[in-house]
Amino acid sequence: MIKVLEVRTASRNQMVDVTSRVKEVVSASGVREGLCVLYVPHTTAAVAINEGADPAVAEDILAQLARLAPPDGCYSHREGNADAHIKATIVGASRVVPVSGGRLMLGTWQAVFFCEFDGPRHRKLVVQVI
Ligand code: ZN
Repeated sequence: MIKVLEVRTASRNQMVDVTSRVKEVVSASGVREGLCVLYVPHTTAAVAINEGADPAVAEDILAQLARLAPPDGCYSHREGNADAHIKATIVGASRVVPVSGGRLMLGTWQAVFFCEFDGPRHRKLVVQVI
């Protein structure tokens, strides 16, 4: 089963918790044992798995990515979003989560985040359960 989730982001850099939406896709798929593939078909966005309980964690991740790729850095790419391309490459365009007993095998504190680096935009997150 494949489902494309629409994600509306509200700021230039943002980590949107999409865990509950991904869990719904897994439930609807009927797959008991398998894999959930998460894929972002964009060059300035990414998908990450990390702590969802304390919002300060996502804040720290975004702050450190901004230090690695500052928006006002000296870049060859002249569209003004080179920092976003670099952040998207560091975080990555896909993740795989095991599914067992019909459920995502996320740890207690883990959440799935759609990572926006050039928003606000209307984005897509591809979820395939196999
Ligand atoms: Zn660009």
